[in-house]
Amino acid sequence: MNYSSRKKNKTVKYIVLHYTGMKNLKLAYDKLSDETSNVSSHYLISRNGTIYNLLCPKYKAWHAGKSKWKNNININDYSIGIELENKGHDFGYTKFSNRQYNSLKKLISFLKKNFNILNENIIYHSDIAPNRKKDPGEKFFMNKIDINRFNKKKIKDIYNVDDMLELYGFHKNYIKNHKIFCIMSVKRTLNYKNINPSQSRKFLKDFYNLLFE
Ligand SMILES: [Zn+2]
Repeated sequence: MNYSSRKKNKTVKYIVLHYTGMKNLKLAYDKLSDETSNVSSHYLISRNGTIYNLLCPKYKAWHAGKSKWKNNININDYSIGIELENKGHDFGYTKFSNRQYNSLKKLISFLKKNFNILNENIIYHSDIAPNRKKDPGEKFFMNKIDINRFNKKKIKDIYNVDDMLELYGFHKNYIKNHKIFCIMSVKRTLNYKNINPSQSRKFLKDFYNLLFE
């Protein structure tokens, strides 16, 4: 098992959701617990709803990799990682099971209480590393765990895409260097079936409605 201690000034405020992206549960479980794999996570939820607690959240797991969100870098320092069993885009991406959603909902409500985590801080791996990661992906529905991440703002000014990407939470560096990936990441959050970088009128409208009242 890979882990580090948490630094005193870097406390948990995010939950990062992932999919395992591996052919089966055993491969994922073994990889997450293997010291030579360089990855680990606090929790793993199988398709049948079993929650595996792999590491106590008081320690830092290695699930996020190189990552940025808002003004934070290295999101492992500030987060709890939850992996959902799913073959992922490379091996046959499927919808998440209802049992997975039910277990995730219970786990998140437990963690929210214990770590004072806000709904807006329940985020995706694709948000914090849009140039590298697609998970948990467009088949993950946050409303199935009764979480609404976005506190819709009342501002009625017209925003350009860069402003909206920043308001969504992307780090400025990603907006500058990986804007296309940021847009595709938002499309995954919006559960689009077809993920491409086009800034269609529909996309801009959906994105605006995600952020504003
Ligand atoms: Zn991930």
